[in-house]
Parts: sequence; C-alpha cells; structure tokens
Amino acid sequence: YEKLEKSDVGKDELAEMGRTFNRMMEALETNYMKQQQFVSNASHEFKTPLTVIESYAKLLLRRGFTNEKVATEALEAIVNESTRMNNMIVQMLELAKNKERIPLSIQQLDVTHLLENTLTQMRQAYNRNFQYQFAESLYIITDEPKLKQLLFILLDNARKYSDGRIEVSATKQTNSITISIRDYGVGIPQDQLPHLFDRFFRVSEDRNRKTGGTGLGLAIANEIAHSLQIKIEVESEVDVGTCFILHIPLSIKNEVESK
Ligand code: ADP
Repeated sequence: YEKLEKSDVGKDELAEMGRTFNRMMEALETNYMKQQQFVSNASHEFKTPLTVIESYAKLLLRRGFTNEKVATEALEAIVNESTRMNNMIVQMLELAKNKERIPLSIQQLDVTHLLENTLTQMRQAYNRNFQYQFAESLYIITDEPKLKQLLFILLDNARKYSDGRIEVSATKQTNSITISIRDYGVGIPQDQLPHLFDRFFRVSEDRNRKTGGTGLGLAIANEIAHSLQIKIEVESEVDVGTCFILHIPLSIKNEVESK
C-alpha cells in the first residue's frame, strides 16, 4: 500500500481500489455467514433423524427381542430415517456442487419429448396418473439433464403432496416455453409461499413426516432455475392444490464458457 502511495497511482484510483477491496470483503463475509448458517441448519436437521434412530435402537434393545411388533415398528422407523438422512446427504452434496459453477452442457432439445420420457418414468416408478397436454414438438436450447432434474423435483413433489391426478402442460409463447405442473393435493398456506425455496423449509414437519422429505428439493430446483434463466411461479390453496409454472427461455448461453 505504501509503495502504491509513492507511485504514480492517483489518490482517486487508490480510493477506488479501497472501495473495491471493501466490497469484496463484504461479499466474502456475507458468503461466509451464509455457509455458517447452512452448516448450523444442516447439523440441526441431522439431529432429528439421528435422535429417532437412537431412541428406536434403544427400544429395540430393551423390548425388541421379546416383542415382535415393537421390533418391526423400531426397525421400520430406523430404515425410514436412515433413508431420509441418506437423501439429505445426496441433496446437500448436490447444492455444494452447483456452487462450483460447473459449465452448463447446452444443446437443442424437444421439451415435448423430454416431458413424455420423464412422465413415463414417473408413471412406471409410482403408478400414478400423470395427465399431459402438449403442443407439437417444442424446441429449446438449454441444459437437458438439469432441466430434467428440475422437472423431476416438481413432479415428485406433486406426487408426494397429493393423491389424485397430476396435470402437466407445455405451451409456446413468443420468447419462451411455459410448463405447468398442477396437483390437487394438500396445498400450501399463502403465508408460507415466500419461504418455499429456502433450504430445509417444510410447510409442516408433522404433516410431511410420512413423505420422508428433506426440505432441500425446492432449494435445488431454485438453483437450477437460476442457472437456466427459468422463472418459477407458484399458485396454491390449502386443500385445493398447487400449480408450479415454469417460464423457460427458448435459448440460453453458457455464461461460464463464454467468459
Ligand atoms: P421436501 O423434501 O420436504 O419435499 P422440498 O424443498 O421439495 O422438500 O419442498 C419443501 C416443502 O414445500 C415441502 O416439505 C412441502 O411442505 C412443500 N411443498 C412442495 N411442493 C408441494 C406441493 N406440490 N404441494 C404441497 N406442498 C408442497
């Protein structure tokens, strides 16, 4: 800094460098605080399934050898909570990976074809009624695996939080494609909608416990949407249902590669 002061660098430039440095430090600090918050939330979220596993394992030790019903109940709870923890770890790694700004793998694809494939897989896996209305082929330029992952998260939620049919439609607008995924399930209270994409957010732990969710799916969906320049809208009413609407640009550029 002293060397710089004696050099030809003007006072204005020095002041500007100082301001830039301050901004960088503030950004680093905010990032650090966010990481800290994430680690603290994650530790808290891991504690719940671990406590359940521990208490059921103890119950199993105490009464499991003499009571088959207790043993079954305990083992089922242990398996469910272990699966949930496993999902949480996979999703947390996914969120960490997205942060590294891996270049997108952009190509032309037919949205109709992608939706048909994804829905066929979902139908086979879950034996649920996914109805769909598409126009003819709808071509866009984007990252296909990421878009598929985003669709999968929303379709999987529609399945988890409803019992009836799920309607999917895709339509072409002037500069975008709109995909809507509508379910007729439990719905989301209006005051909870602003938190929907927060990490670890779940509308109600009691209501959701049987779905074994983690509260990380929509946070991942949000990051994918951001990287693919997709806008997500949500309309929902409790006990009526939920509709997620995606506005997908017809074409995106790979920011990382184009730098
Ligand atoms: P989870 O693993 O809990 O499903 P998500 O991040 O995918 O995590 O969703 C966060 C929460 O938002 C869910 O726990 C649920 O309460 C609510 N939610 C998401 N999608 C729907 C939907 N289609 N209908 C009702 N509630 C939903």
